[in-house]
Amino acid sequence: RDAELLGSAAAERKRRAAAVIEEVERNLATPTALLRSIADAMVVEMERGLRGDIHACLKMLISYVDNLPTGDEHGLFYALDLGGTNFRVLRVQLGGREKRVVKQQYEEVSIPPHLMVGTSMELFDFIAAALAQFVDTEGEDFHLPEGRQRELGFTFSFPVNQTSISSGTLIKWTKGFSINGTVGEDVVAELSRAMERQGLDMKVTALVNDTVGTLAGGRYMDNDVVAAVILGTGTNAAYVEHANAIPKWTGLLPRSGNMVINTEWGSFKSDKLPLSEYDKAMDFESLNPGEQIYEKMISGMYLGEIVRRILLKLAHDASLFGDVVPPKLEQPFVLRTPDMSAMHHDSSHDLKILGAKLKDIVGVADTSLEVRYITRHICDIVAERGARLAAAGIYSILKKIGRDKVPSDGSKLPRTAVALDGGLYEHYKKFSSCVDSTLADLLGEEVSSSVVAKLANDGSGIGAALLAASHSQYAETD
Ligand code: BGC
Ligand code: MG
Repeated sequence: RDAELLGSAAAERKRRAAAVIEEVERNLATPTALLRSIADAMVVEMERGLRGDIHACLKMLISYVDNLPTGDEHGLFYALDLGGTNFRVLRVQLGGREKRVVKQQYEEVSIPPHLMVGTSMELFDFIAAALAQFVDTEGEDFHLPEGRQRELGFTFSFPVNQTSISSGTLIKWTKGFSINGTVGEDVVAELSRAMERQGLDMKVTALVNDTVGTLAGGRYMDNDVVAAVILGTGTNAAYVEHANAIPKWTGLLPRSGNMVINTEWGSFKSDKLPLSEYDKAMDFESLNPGEQIYEKMISGMYLGEIVRRILLKLAHDASLFGDVVPPKLEQPFVLRTPDMSAMHHDSSHDLKILGAKLKDIVGVADTSLEVRYITRHICDIVAERGARLAAAGIYSILKKIGRDKVPSDGSKLPRTAVALDGGLYEHYKKFSSCVDSTLADLLGEEVSSSVVAKLANDGSGIGAALLAASHSQYAETD
């Protein structure tokens, strides 16, 4: 009898697990037709944003970058990159067309978590102090002409209302940041005051979003780069738009005829998005409820957390990890996306790595092979949805600029390059290969053969330095 009862309890658990999994598969599904309609909805939102419609969910921010690097940039420039879990300082000696990047050095500093939710002054003081220390180590390979001030490109990876190429006010914090008193402030003024407090004499000549920096760095390497996409802690894209296709731009028409637009696509929202109960609950409990919905389905800050929520449901409903729900699994963000990636990539026959991760993170030793397979499957569903949605976003940008199809006049389709950066795309191979294959699928064989999406590793730092160079206060005299 006991064995019989045990058997039927196990069968019941199996049935319940299957029901949850089936529901997750259904609610997170992204069939190609859905992706196409999401891309269409994004194009509509881009157009609204470019018109300045305040209800548009894509802000389509004007970057004031109307010229991308040419290769002629020269001199010593610094860059500072703030936005994810680390920030980076960099210096580069640019040698002009012939010598290009003569030498570069960088340093990465992780941001103490308390500073991400502290005060503006503490955060900027911390950054300025690290920058000042870095400047102190400038060696003989770097040359600053007599009497010149050092200049900096500031990559600030949050939505900013630019007021010029070197100033702009923060619209809102995203990702893990939530600092009182910075929204509405000029972030360059904040940084400059902090540098002064450090006794550091340096001028910010370019303020750029990381997508814009990546676009600039990407163009420096490859002339056909027309867009840049970040798939990291957060997600976003920038691209080169015709200035006359930006109704809200009231300034002079730039000589190039172009303007780089920071789409801020992370805040895209649509009833077409396959939003599940797990997404809704995560959003509700987040630092920024109701915001960055597309970002929360795609980016590195959130993927592991979505998986955790699904596993928790399986633990509750189907006793996936035994009769008691493991307390650790109740803890928001314990399952980080790099761990999810490690579990997802485990292809050993007994899923040993995955088992060790579960033991580590969830605190359950000796999981059955079946439980491990289920866990890997959940990682697969969540990563695949994120990657396919990201590909739909890239496709929508190509649509917006008319690079999604063969020209109707019979001319040859120009080569199109998209610079991609961010830890998620760089390190999560199953994710990045799914982005690539989905994009190829959406474009079709003929078009996709002329589109290259390529990793522009750390392009945003060098890009910001290049933009600092082209907007140098000494540029005219050079
Ligand atoms: C920010 C963007 C940024 C992106 C990638 C998003 O959360 O809103 O400005 O480009 O993350 O770092
Ligand atoms: Mg970054």
